[in-house]
Amino acid sequence: MAIVIHNGTHTTVAGFSQVDMPQVVCSSSYMKRADESLEFELDALLEGPESPIFTIMNPEGVPYDWEALEKQWRWIVETKLGSKLEETPLVITVAPDLPQEAKSQYLDVALRRLKVPVFQMVVEPLAVALSLGRNTALVVDIGAAKATVTPIIDGSVVSSAAIRSRFAGDFLDFQVYEMLKHQIESDESLPKDPSYAAWHNSRTWIQEFKAYMLQISPSKLQEMDSATVDILGMNSIKKFLYKKQKTISLTQKQCCSITEGIFQPSAASPQFSKDEGLSDIVAKSVKKAGASSTQASSASNVASAEQIHTALLTSIVITGSSSLIAGLEQRVVNDLSYQFPQYKLSSFANPLVLDRKLQSWHGGVTMANLPSWDLGDWISRKDHESNAT
Ligand code: ATP
Repeated sequence: MAIVIHNGTHTTVAGFSQVDMPQVVCSSSYMKRADESLEFELDALLEGPESPIFTIMNPEGVPYDWEALEKQWRWIVETKLGSKLEETPLVITVAPDLPQEAKSQYLDVALRRLKVPVFQMVVEPLAVALSLGRNTALVVDIGAAKATVTPIIDGSVVSSAAIRSRFAGDFLDFQVYEMLKHQIESDESLPKDPSYAAWHNSRTWIQEFKAYMLQISPSKLQEMDSATVDILGMNSIKKFLYKKQKTISLTQKQCCSITEGIFQPSAASPQFSKDEGLSDIVAKSVKKAGASSTQASSASNVASAEQIHTALLTSIVITGSSSLIAGLEQRVVNDLSYQFPQYKLSSFANPLVLDRKLQSWHGGVTMANLPSWDLGDWISRKDHESNAT
């Protein structure tokens, strides 16, 4: 039985490939305890004591703290799952554009340092698409540090057309904090250490605020006239109880203004680029995928680009926990239908909250459970050792 680990920039999900639900959901950030051990357990981190928080993954979803990653995997496999590393096949999910150097580092940690017998790195969006039974899809993943758009055609990632932006969950945490900071600054209980405070706020009240209050306008907020705002009920008030201390009231329109930056970063701050909005990068990725197909095949260029556009636009898969914000899927589809008026659009987002949150891990599980070993890209410790010598 293999163990599957998904290291997101925000959350790490892990468990056995034969079990439906993961046994471990922990933080991808950690703190150092007095005895030099690293703490990854969510509840323990929330409890404190307050101390600086470090991250394992960089904003592109590639580890930059390999030592901590090794310790985290050891803790997951041995302590949490009670398995022996030397006896357990390991599958991990990785970014579509993982640099070669990071690939070698992953192999080194898994096969040489932790001594797992066989190891597989699966490309996260490809695994997500295949686990949903699609071998052609446009995977739009809105996570914490990043939103990633990856076209997949006939079971292969079109890496030249994969696009990423930093306008996702962490960006929203900042927007929420900025909007509410004047109302909560009198709260003496807020942590003081800057990295711990940011981490703690985003895992407690900001997380709740995002889940209950945030919503996304169906089209550009500033272009909506007052009659439409009225019809959509966006003047009605939503209330949020901050830490059982204080009620914060906002109109639905104000709630939409917090999330508008995901679609129009320049609306949040003029320093952000105009064309890095979510729908912009989705459209760009579709066009690039079409263009890359025309480079590959010389003869019937136009038709093949159009076929790619059609195939991707009828199979838009929306995933990542930040995609749970109400109205996100609809907004992406609405914006794309302006950009691609001649195409039929069809999107899928898992309606079950937990399934959507665990989608990447489930993708890894699907790849771990392929009916035959040769279908997966397994690398054995022995092969790795003999290649290294
Ligand atoms: P990445 O995809 O960047 O590697 P990840 O896989 O760790 O990160 P996800 O678990 O997909 O990230 O998303 C985490 C983000 O989703 C966090 O910013 C979190 O606050 C946000 N989030 C979680 N639940 C909800 C919700 N119900 N509504 C809105 N945002 C949510």
